[in-house]
Amino acid sequence: MRLLLALLVLAVARPWARAADEHWCYEIQKKTEPNCLGPKEWKWDCQKKRQSPINIIASNAEVKKDLGLFSFSSYEKKKKWNVTNNGHTVLIDLNKEAKIEGGGLNTEYQATQLHFHWSRNLTGGSEHSINGEHTAMEMHIVHQKKQLTSKSQRASENTSEDIAVLAFLVKVGSQNDNFQPLVDILPTISKPNTSTAMNEPVSLFDLIPEKEKLKDYFRYLGSLTTPECSETVVWTVFQEPIYLGKDQVLPFSEKLFYDKSRKKNMTDNVRPPMQSLEGRSVYKSYSSAAPERLLPLALTTLLVPALAYLTAGSL
Ligand SMILES: [Zn+2]
Repeated sequence: MRLLLALLVLAVARPWARAADEHWCYEIQKKTEPNCLGPKEWKWDCQKKRQSPINIIASNAEVKKDLGLFSFSSYEKKKKWNVTNNGHTVLIDLNKEAKIEGGGLNTEYQATQLHFHWSRNLTGGSEHSINGEHTAMEMHIVHQKKQLTSKSQRASENTSEDIAVLAFLVKVGSQNDNFQPLVDILPTISKPNTSTAMNEPVSLFDLIPEKEKLKDYFRYLGSLTTPECSETVVWTVFQEPIYLGKDQVLPFSEKLFYDKSRKKNMTDNVRPPMQSLEGRSVYKSYSSAAPERLLPLALTTLLVPALAYLTAGSL
């Protein structure tokens, strides 16, 4: 009888155990873990119609005048950040201290964390692509709308822009010393669910391109690129990439692992970008349009007097 009961308990318990095993993973992990849920099987909001990432076709992006400059606060503060391998990415907890506003956002947002996506293939590690071109990595600085005080305000609020992600494509170039404190500690967090603090202080401004180069960006409404794929993100994808040396990009794939036994290199942690736009618009900041907009004007200003001079000379 006892055995029968034990068997019964096992039979009942098993489906639960299996459900718990069904954790989400990236396509590359399915090779060794066929039971995990790959991007095509992600549930939650992942099969809805406002998903990310996307391929941005620059010439289709509409210029929007209110997409002006961002203002950053506490982005200059240097800290020895705590860095975590969470089993899907490498993540820095930002504690909501740094803030952004402007850039066409409706309100102020607080920086919660930043993380990366990458591949060993140096043209396959970004989630977003511009004109079909992927880069070596992508860095996401995740910001959350400042919490409203009253619950009723919160309930009545539209949550569709609760999260603002600043996305930076990372290309291979020359060595970037500002990233070295992060690269240096990767071997110490090789296993999932391990954390360590950087040895050298770094600011968020140290990690991103110079302020003057941040005026050109794309904007669209999408989702988180990992389950539960919540459709609450206002995306900013900057045109200016971050440059890192090849020897700084490859350690992400070589030193970090998806598993405790360090057999499965953490790489290709990228959601396929073929999420269709489904009628959404992609906008570009006003200044991105400036060169094309100013060129005819500049030409006219230069050409008219030149032509007048030439015509006068020939007369
Ligand atoms: Zn991300």
